[in-house]
Amino acid sequence: MTKEELREFFTDLGEKPFRADQVFSWLHVKKCTSFDEMTNLSKALREKLQDLAEIPHLEIADLQVSRLDGTRKYLLSLSDGNVIESVLMRYKFGNSVCVSSQVGCRMGCRFCASTIGGIVRNLTASEILDEVYMIERDTGESVTHVVVMGSGEPFDNYDEVVRFIRLLNDPDGHNLSRRNVTVSTCGLPDRIRAFADEDVSSELALSLHAPDDETRKKLMPIAEKYPLSEVLEACDYYFEKTGRRITYEYACVKDVNSDVRSAEKLGRLLHGRNALVNLIPVNNVAERNYEKPESEALAAFQNALAKYGINATIRREMGADIQGACGQLRRSFLKNGRKGAMTE
Ligand code: SAH
Repeated sequence: MTKEELREFFTDLGEKPFRADQVFSWLHVKKCTSFDEMTNLSKALREKLQDLAEIPHLEIADLQVSRLDGTRKYLLSLSDGNVIESVLMRYKFGNSVCVSSQVGCRMGCRFCASTIGGIVRNLTASEILDEVYMIERDTGESVTHVVVMGSGEPFDNYDEVVRFIRLLNDPDGHNLSRRNVTVSTCGLPDRIRAFADEDVSSELALSLHAPDDETRKKLMPIAEKYPLSEVLEACDYYFEKTGRRITYEYACVKDVNSDVRSAEKLGRLLHGRNALVNLIPVNNVAERNYEKPESEALAAFQNALAKYGINATIRREMGADIQGACGQLRRSFLKNGRKGAMTE
């Protein structure tokens, strides 16, 4: 519940609305997981809340810690037994958590492990929020950045994702600025436009992955539904409306989209836009046989883009020793059971 909904809830119970502010603070500042901890409420009220409400929280099913960079990859279980992944990455600028927005995904991107078993269900806003809170409870450190780049397509679960950001932003809650939240989408034009119009619109990353429709269709089934021109127009609208520069993610796959000609095409496509291209050397997934290009090829790609005035960064790999890419840990859990996920 948002703070307003919580106030209504307490008023309906015949309680004073300020109880809502107390509970909101217990949940979102102290991040507690039971009503028992809310010591400034009467015992009777705590018991009443226990009967009427629940605080959904996640349990750690598995945790892998990278020896290379301290990245922590969590396999978290939901109350219905499903599992999701969240990752904590430590940077100089702060702690960034990558959250999942769905159990599985139905977008079918060919290189992505999250989509192999299809979608199971959407996550609720509280579950997404507890990915962040769980990691804070576990590490005792605060999370300063959130990227909605884990498993799932956030705009396929639009309402809950927007509610999640709203709760995360609340000045009386975690108070995370929306400049520090990035939503990554495979490109659903109507939802991109709707998000531009929200009061919680944050940073936007578009999974572009190809410089033309033909190549994009080979990698992303969603490209059959929405041509690039429509997706890019929606991104332009996002920029006009919010003034936020869009990041275009580009997973570089050897022999598919990473030659200099593709870079030139991409340069022409994005030329004149205020764009940042993030080149992601594709992570090989057991079920797929895509390979990343050599580092010289990546550098040539980056240089070719620069000729069109397009800035590109090459994404630093983090947690490469712990199945850091989308959906890998959950896949091995589903294939091998709990023990397999720990040891694989
Ligand atoms: N559904 C959203 C967010 C989830 S994935 C989206 O499509 O943007 C976050 C990013 O990781 C996306 O750009 C996605 O295409 C990319 N990705 C997924 N699997 C990958 C892999 N094996 N290697 C490199 N990037 C991958």
